[in-house]
Amino acid sequence: MNGQPGQGEEQVKRIGVLGGGQLGRMLGLAGLPLGFQFLFLDPAADACSGATGELLQAGFSDEDAARKLAARVDVATFDFENVPEATASALQEVCPLYPAPNALAAGQDRISENTLFTRLGIQVPDYHAVSSRTDLLEGLDKIGYPAVLKTRRLGYDGKGQAVLRDSEDLERAWQRLGESELILEAFVPFQAECSLVAVRGAGGEIRTWPLTRNVHSNGILKLSRPNGLDKALQVKAEEKVRALLEHFDYTGVITVEFFLFNGELLVNEFAPRVHNSGHWTIDGSTCSQFENHLRAITGMPLGETDMTGYSVMFNWIGEMPDKQQALAIPGLHWHDYGKEPRPGRKIGHATLTADSLDALQLNAVQLADLAGGEFPELLATLFD
Ligand code: AMP
Repeated sequence: MNGQPGQGEEQVKRIGVLGGGQLGRMLGLAGLPLGFQFLFLDPAADACSGATGELLQAGFSDEDAARKLAARVDVATFDFENVPEATASALQEVCPLYPAPNALAAGQDRISENTLFTRLGIQVPDYHAVSSRTDLLEGLDKIGYPAVLKTRRLGYDGKGQAVLRDSEDLERAWQRLGESELILEAFVPFQAECSLVAVRGAGGEIRTWPLTRNVHSNGILKLSRPNGLDKALQVKAEEKVRALLEHFDYTGVITVEFFLFNGELLVNEFAPRVHNSGHWTIDGSTCSQFENHLRAITGMPLGETDMTGYSVMFNWIGEMPDKQQALAIPGLHWHDYGKEPRPGRKIGHATLTADSLDALQLNAVQLADLAGGEFPELLATLFD
């Protein structure tokens, strides 16, 4: 079942979601007021989306389970981009799936992703496919040190990657990653990282949120601030994302991550889904990425993607600061995903909103001090 969702398809009642993590949960939270019900498929019996809908426990390779889910919903989507293409296709035989599996497949392999970007005239860091040690040495001859070695598939949040600064790093990285198909990329000494979250609706209309400046640590997103960069970059980012959306004839929310280097935006990767760097849109934009994704896949009119004030998002990885003290900070919006805390696990986030940049910064410093660890130092880079 293909094609675009019809405009104003009011019969959509139940939405199926492959993946039941925090993104699914936030889709659920956005969709309940619109009158939707949710059915999630996830391997974990305690997947945190379960709080917002029914949870079907099954592995992502279980095509029968995907078909069963499809039979019980009007339209389906995913909160997890590593769903096997065969599962997505099986589901699509029974009910419409947005975005379509073509975008899912393109994003699952870093080489095909980069090849596509290059074909669309979108700049990416220099790269070289690595299937053997000889390929790796050839790639290093071409790209030079420093470089980043990454798995081609199933990598996220900096997992399955290593920075190579010298031949010792090379040996260590090869021991650890050499079993997988890899990609070697030039290390980009970026001035900043940023992402553009965009939505394409049923009739092909595209709306974008303000370019969001992101700070990562150990490959995981820690902080996001919309509109923290030169306005001219917004236009450049939009051109690239538009080309990608139109290439896929895409429906729903997409996110493209960039490195800002020498005034240019180089694409790092894209995600065919709602994204962590767009969480601020729940509290800081007229219509959130979650609501607009649902509007797009059910053929409803898109909502406004403007900022309703200034905002900054803090990601809680493995632990959260004291809620009692955090809630005393003006403009604080708390999001607990209801997950068991574990090191490296995304368990919640908080967005601060304010009417002025000065007030935002003042409150953000308070929250960073309360959260401790690297937050005060990382926050300083977000307001430089
Ligand atoms: P990824 O999983 O590819 O999004 O990488 C996670 C993070 O690692 C990025 O957000 C960057 O902070 C860093 N990183 C990845 N690739 C590169 C690169 N080629 N040059 C510099 N930093 C990188």
